[in-house]
Amino acid sequence: MKIGFIGLGNMGGPMAANLAKAGHEVAGFDLTAPMPEGVTKAASATETAQGADVVITMLPNGAILRSVAAEVIPAIAAGAVLCDCSTVDVDSARAVADQAAAAGLGALDAPVSGGIGGAAAGTLTFMIGGTDAGFAKVLPLFEIMGQKAVHCGAAGAGQAAKICNNMILGVTMIATCEAFALADKLGLDRQKMFDVVSTSSGYSWSMNAYCPAPGVGPKSPADNDYKPGFASELMLKDLRLSQQAAESADADTPMGQLAAALYARFVEDEDGRGRDFSAMLPRFTQRHRE
Ligand code: NAD
Repeated sequence: MKIGFIGLGNMGGPMAANLAKAGHEVAGFDLTAPMPEGVTKAASATETAQGADVVITMLPNGAILRSVAAEVIPAIAAGAVLCDCSTVDVDSARAVADQAAAAGLGALDAPVSGGIGGAAAGTLTFMIGGTDAGFAKVLPLFEIMGQKAVHCGAAGAGQAAKICNNMILGVTMIATCEAFALADKLGLDRQKMFDVVSTSSGYSWSMNAYCPAPGVGPKSPADNDYKPGFASELMLKDLRLSQQAAESADADTPMGQLAAALYARFVEDEDGRGRDFSAMLPRFTQRHRE
C-alpha cells in the first residue's frame, strides 16, 4: 500500500519504520523529527496524502489533529482512509471523521496502547472507532504495527476506550508508586515488594511491565533516570481528556479526578515536566505527609 505518515515522534517514528520494513511505500512528514529508516521525506503533510491509500497521523493533541486534517483532507483521494492513531478528545475524533466522510473518505480513530517499546516491537494494541469498511482496509497495517486491533464501534469509540484505559493506568501508576514509597518507610526491600505484588492481587501493567522502581522488574524508564517513555505531560493530557469526557457524560470518576489533580501538580508545580509518568515514585519518596 501507499501510506502517508504525519507525526514521526517517539511513537510515530517506529510505527512508520515498521510499515516500511514490511514493504509498504511510506512518505513521512514531521515538523522536527528525523525520518525513520525506509521512510521517504515529504515536503509537507499534504504531499504525504497525495496518492496515498491510507494516511496515518500520530500527533500530540486534538487541536493539532484538527488543523492537520483540515489541511490534508482535500488532498486525499476519494475512497482512501484517514487513520488517526494519536490520543485526542472524542469530539475532535468525531469532527475529523465527519469532515472526512463529507469528502468521501473513510476515517478511523485508532489510538494505541503499548508505549514506545510496543511501537518499536510492533506489539501495540489498537482500539478503533469508525466504519467496517475503513477498519477492513487498515487492518493489515494494524497487524504490522501491533499485536491486537479491536474494532470498538463507531467514530470516537476508539478514543473512548483509550481514555478509559489510561485513566486506569494513571490511577494504578500512582497507587504503585505510593505503595513503593510506603514499603520503603516500612523497611521492605523493593525487590521483595516486586516479587510479591507482581504475582499477587496488586499486580498491574504499571508494576509488572513498567515498574517505577529502578533496578527492579523489567527494564523501564525508571532504569534510565525517568526519561520518557511516556511523559507526565501526556499522562496529564489523557487524564484531563477522561475528566472532560466524564463531565460531558455525567459519569462519576473520583479516582480519575484525583489522579488528574496529582499529575497536574506534578507537572505544573513540581519537577515532573519532561519526566516519565513513573517518576511519581521519587516524587512520593521525597514528600512527606502534609
Ligand atoms: P511526540 O511528541 O514524540 O511526537 C509527536 C510528533 O508530532 C512530534 O515529532 C512533532 O514534531 C509532530 N508534530 C506536531 N505538530 C505537527 C504538525 N502540524 N505536522 C507534522 N508533525 C507534527 O509524541 P509521541 O509520544 O509520539 O505521542 C504521539 C501521540 O501518541 C500522542 O497523542 C500521545 O498521547 C499518544 N501516545 C503516546 C504514547 C507514548 O508512550 N509516548 C503511548 C500511547 C499513545
